[in-house]
Amino acid sequence: MLEHILTNDEVFVAPGWLKAQANLQNLEAEHTRSIADPDGFWGEWAARYTWFKPWEKVVDWNYPDHRWFVGGETNITLNALDRHADGANRNKVALIWIAEDGSERKLTYYELRRLVSQLASGLRSLGVEKGDRVVIYMPLTIEGVASMLACARLGAIHSVVYAGMGVGALRDRIIDAGAKIVIAGDIGMRRGKGVDLRSIVEQATEDLPLRHIIWFQRGVKNELRPRDVDFDDLMARSKPDVDPVPVDAEHPLYILYTSGSTGKPKGVVHVHGGYMVGTSYHLRHFYDVKDNDVFWATSDIGWVVGHSYIVYAPLVEGVTSVFREGAPDWPDPGVFWACVEKYGVNVMFTAPTAVRMFMKFGPEYVNQHDISTLRLIAVAGEPLNPEAMRWAHKHLLGDGQRGFVADNWWQTELGGPAIATPIVKHAKPGAAGLPLPGVEAAVVDTDGNPVPKGKGGLLALKRPFPHMMRTVWGSHHRYEQYWTEIPNCYAAGDVASWDEEGYISVLGRSDDVLNVAGHRIGTADVESAMITHPAVAESAVIGIPDPLKGEAIKAFVVLRIGAEPGDEMRQSIIDHVRRELGPIATPSQVAFTEKLPKTRSGKIVRRLLKAQEMGKDPGDLSTLED
Ligand code: AMP
Repeated sequence: MLEHILTNDEVFVAPGWLKAQANLQNLEAEHTRSIADPDGFWGEWAARYTWFKPWEKVVDWNYPDHRWFVGGETNITLNALDRHADGANRNKVALIWIAEDGSERKLTYYELRRLVSQLASGLRSLGVEKGDRVVIYMPLTIEGVASMLACARLGAIHSVVYAGMGVGALRDRIIDAGAKIVIAGDIGMRRGKGVDLRSIVEQATEDLPLRHIIWFQRGVKNELRPRDVDFDDLMARSKPDVDPVPVDAEHPLYILYTSGSTGKPKGVVHVHGGYMVGTSYHLRHFYDVKDNDVFWATSDIGWVVGHSYIVYAPLVEGVTSVFREGAPDWPDPGVFWACVEKYGVNVMFTAPTAVRMFMKFGPEYVNQHDISTLRLIAVAGEPLNPEAMRWAHKHLLGDGQRGFVADNWWQTELGGPAIATPIVKHAKPGAAGLPLPGVEAAVVDTDGNPVPKGKGGLLALKRPFPHMMRTVWGSHHRYEQYWTEIPNCYAAGDVASWDEEGYISVLGRSDDVLNVAGHRIGTADVESAMITHPAVAESAVIGIPDPLKGEAIKAFVVLRIGAEPGDEMRQSIIDHVRRELGPIATPSQVAFTEKLPKTRSGKIVRRLLKAQEMGKDPGDLSTLED
């Protein structure tokens, strides 16, 4: 992996006019202050928001636990909705939702507050209270966003499960979160067709002791069973009469599940206060959003980017957030650029895999549209390959004269960008950039000692920041593991290198986690799903390079005695994993084998499978079984 370390000195520089107007003018000065005086730095930014009760202390860092705005009380929706609906932004457009067919729905801050308050009232009538967990399995719609905000308004903790995950994944998350209420859509839209979500929800919840499932029904209205509630009926019988419930700054806002090294989902917990302050700081300073900008994060509410940058930070800062349901290349490969033109998008936040897709289609789809409003394209989720960066500068930003491509590295656990290339700094293709304000990062060895510049090591953070996770839901020891793997550091789980200027290149995961089209997928998740297929005795999963997705999933399978390998079996296994985990975690290749390589202690050596697959030297095999 380390051969990707950069040796050339190609750089990209933002145009002078763009640098001159950047919200963050001096990265070094801001960074130095944020580290030397975190209380002053974060306290100052937090003071722009409305608090029911002021905090007594900005940070309480009691390794490995951290609390921010201690003693303070707020509610993120007080700042994301009421602060604007009762002020100068009352009639400003908060959300623009775009459907695949091009139809749209716009909501002002006043209208959005009304909708959320009404839904919160409906949820309250069903018994949802502060601290309750609500699972949201909704297509990317205004109702999906409103469901999140309505929970937050009540102090209930939402856990959005991407409406593309399968039966097993949804079920595991409902159980782990201990949710008694699920808000679910019946269909999602993709490539002009309705994708059936209802049967996934029904199978996942069949024998779970839920109190209610609230159905957002876009298709045929189904007959409801006693525990079912129709979303529209609930709205019709509710009044917009719910004010934000005051909560402690440290009160959980949401749980978002992500993959780790084991098959058990990891529920990352973010809180109302610090998360609001930190994600919004970066919306302004890194994503460079101005008051009248139109901001488009092309993610989904099922991912952390959707939480922080479709929903919370843009609303907290009172800007206009655009989001679009459906496939990025449907009804035609130019649809993204048609949307940028129509809505006058100024800042876009997307993923390298999307840029590679645009590249594949060719610049003619871009050139059909006037996208001159676009001045910043931020990308995150996986390493941005230099070709894609060059292409984006050339074809999306008029040879770099109209704007800048800004790589940014972060994780579900971090809530917002941590290592990135702000407008005022030059970009180095292949490098994510420099630590942002609040972030103290280093590339270290397993003992926590910094590795020499130019060498590879583990990416570590040396201190927490306000929008970093507080715990792993229901298992605080899994949170502590992040901070104990490398002494005194938060271990990001990534392999990285740094150069003389301090630029950090993130090369990939150091654990058994894959990155498929920017989605984090644990090999253990896929392997656990595979062995629930009746014919599978054992399996091992590796990532193989894929030109579009970055990585694709290849599975090696040992069948049970009597099971017949072949195309039919292969399809049956693929269908099974798709049903359990969803399309994003489905292997693109399944190979049958008699035996898997193992260590003498019985661990599968994926490294060997991968080396064989890539025709490379597998390295030291002395611990192998035979
Ligand atoms: P997630 O929690 O799903 O957002 O995945 C986080 C992981 O994605 C990180 O640990 C990295 O492996 C990868 N990642 C995210 N952003 C970048 C980036 N800009 N460059 C390289 N890898 C990235």
